[in-house]
Amino acid sequence: MSKKFGQNFLISHPVRERIVDLLEVSEGQQVWEIGPGIGSITSLLLEKRAQVTAFEIDHGFCRILNEQAFGDDPHFRLVEGDALKTLPLSLQTEGVPARICGNLPYNVGSVILAKLLESPYRPSRMVFTLQKEVVDRICAQPGSKDWSSFSLLAQADYEVSLATTINSGAFYPPPKVTSSVILFSLRSESKVESSLRSHFFTLVRDLFAQRRKTVKNNLLGGKVGAMVGKDGVQWLLEDAQLNPSLRAEALDWEQFLALSASLASYRARYTGDTEPAR
Ligand code: SAM
Repeated sequence: MSKKFGQNFLISHPVRERIVDLLEVSEGQQVWEIGPGIGSITSLLLEKRAQVTAFEIDHGFCRILNEQAFGDDPHFRLVEGDALKTLPLSLQTEGVPARICGNLPYNVGSVILAKLLESPYRPSRMVFTLQKEVVDRICAQPGSKDWSSFSLLAQADYEVSLATTINSGAFYPPPKVTSSVILFSLRSESKVESSLRSHFFTLVRDLFAQRRKTVKNNLLGGKVGAMVGKDGVQWLLEDAQLNPSLRAEALDWEQFLALSASLASYRARYTGDTEPAR
């Protein structure tokens, strides 16, 4: 067991079953699992007769998975290495699977998830176990203390819901934090139209860069400020009818979208740039 890879096995069978039930897997479906460990969730996915691809970094676990657990199962495939690298590569070369799941390692779980959410590939359903605080931020609504860039990033394309909270005794070794299971279901239509996507994500990152700073100061100090300059930032705030002294946590969806539209029209008007669709 290695601490550096955030290895906490989910030893509660009912929780593992709940994760697989939430995924709504059907026979023959492509399911990717991040961090299979020695395969306790994997085996439930294979029982559902899914086509499972597992992404695991630990060489010892990979040997167990391939040589002892599922090596001769034609429905199982292992991608060894760091999922931060192997996952984007597999998405590019193989396209999007129907489902992604994982009891994610605490140290890199949110980074892996952010990478997935920013990518243009969107599975219709995803279920993850993550630190409770991270799940609270993802599911937060405007105006709450947890409303963050992660809430916007996740909710742009997915309906998100906290499925269940798990206490540390469900894991071995028990982690010091509480965990939650989160369900992502793809929206029939994204909240952010494709022509505004990269402006939207740039703005969201800038606006939450320093929570205590005002909207105006975060824009001036960020990528948007570098792109449009001081006068441009002023123009954007006026065009989107935003009070420059607000903080990002006070803005709702409509205000983020209005600002994205203003940035798009500023770029089109003053630089002739139009946004490439993603
Ligand atoms: N799925 C197993 C379970 O639920 O019992 C293990 C989950 S454990 C919390 C996280 C797993 O992710 C470990 O197997 C660990 O080796 C693997 N892991 C950690 N960092 C990884 C990375 N960057 N890429 C791929 N796998 C990683």
